[in-house]
Amino acid sequence: MTEKTPAAGRGAPVGEERPRDSVSAAARVERWIRPEVRALHAYEVQESEGLIKLDTMENPYYWPESMVEAWLEALRGVRINRYPDPKSRRLTEQLRAQWQVPADMAMVLGNGSDELIQLLALVFRGPGRVMLAPGPTFVMYRLSALAAGMDYVEVPLDARRFELPRTALLAAVERHQPALVFIAYPNNPTGNLFDHALLEELLRAAPGVVVLDEAYAPFAEASFMHRLGAHPNLLVMRTLSKLGLAGLRLGALVGPRQWMDEIDKLRLPYNINVLTQTSAEFALRHAEVFAAQTARIRADRETLHRRLSALTGVTVWPSRANFLLLRVPAGSGGEVHARLRARGVLVKNLGGSHPHLADCLRVSVGLEEENEAFVEALGAAL
Ligand SMILES: *Cc1c(COP(=O)(O)O)cnc(C)c1O
Repeated sequence: MTEKTPAAGRGAPVGEERPRDSVSAAARVERWIRPEVRALHAYEVQESEGLIKLDTMENPYYWPESMVEAWLEALRGVRINRYPDPKSRRLTEQLRAQWQVPADMAMVLGNGSDELIQLLALVFRGPGRVMLAPGPTFVMYRLSALAAGMDYVEVPLDARRFELPRTALLAAVERHQPALVFIAYPNNPTGNLFDHALLEELLRAAPGVVVLDEAYAPFAEASFMHRLGAHPNLLVMRTLSKLGLAGLRLGALVGPRQWMDEIDKLRLPYNINVLTQTSAEFALRHAEVFAAQTARIRADRETLHRRLSALTGVTVWPSRANFLLLRVPAGSGGEVHARLRARGVLVKNLGGSHPHLADCLRVSVGLEEENEAFVEALGAAL
């Protein structure tokens, strides 16, 4: 490949045999890439240039100028010619304090919680091994199961209020004996918290690990963090993305040391780069800035909910996250999404992603004026 000959990169002379090139890339893909991977569509990120971006649950607020200056000053001290601390020790200690992690629990950090979901699938994979989750839910669970070759079992939520059906859930656990159960708490894209007592029951019934994915913890005012240790199979996952640091890519998994020691063995040693470590340490020293921003978002979520409830033809569900799920009149979802876009507002179109989500849109809570622009555009698009 690296050989430098004058002919390199040029076509072979006519008539000369080229056996290694004779099978096209397409044919080789057909032979070597698993059918279930070929059947996938790549994770879709919508073009957002120039639009009001309310499609990915980002925190719309940035930092005071003085804080930006102090952050850049902190980055000045970073030596990027050196590898980062492979254990992110200082950052881990700050996160433990910030989240009040019980002293006897261990923590593994990930390049976003997406990486931790993938890591869990790699650790728990094996012939016939099952990952189980309710549906609709966060799409990365299924994708990671597929990537690792695990079987994925979905327990459908009830179609009206998106609650976990107790009998079906416990029956599926009994029948499939899942190695891994993922519960997004609150759930994405439905925004609700599942019943606490039922989740305790699930933890007692599940033979393997149950991961409570608390990506929206800053908005939920509910958590299983204090229940760590009460169940030997409870792991809690968090991320800084929805708090306001989506660009950093930092997630964390917390649980009993026995599990975390095994999981840490398959983590890539330098998965948290030095810019992320330094920036997250800096941000956590300014936790009050993020607390004020998330309080504002929680309040604006309720305002937006009221405004949307007042629109005829719109169903909007209650949310404990920083987004709202809504449904527009039957058959109009795709068109309303396109009209919103034409009016400069980008939201997530969930139609076609799950049978329960026909004509559903998901909108992140943005700045006050962005929320207003969305309500106005939606009113006009209906
Ligand atoms: C957004 C989201 C994540 C992904 O978080 P990253 O840390 O940005 O990878 C994980 N779980 C749920 C339920 C989410 O909605």
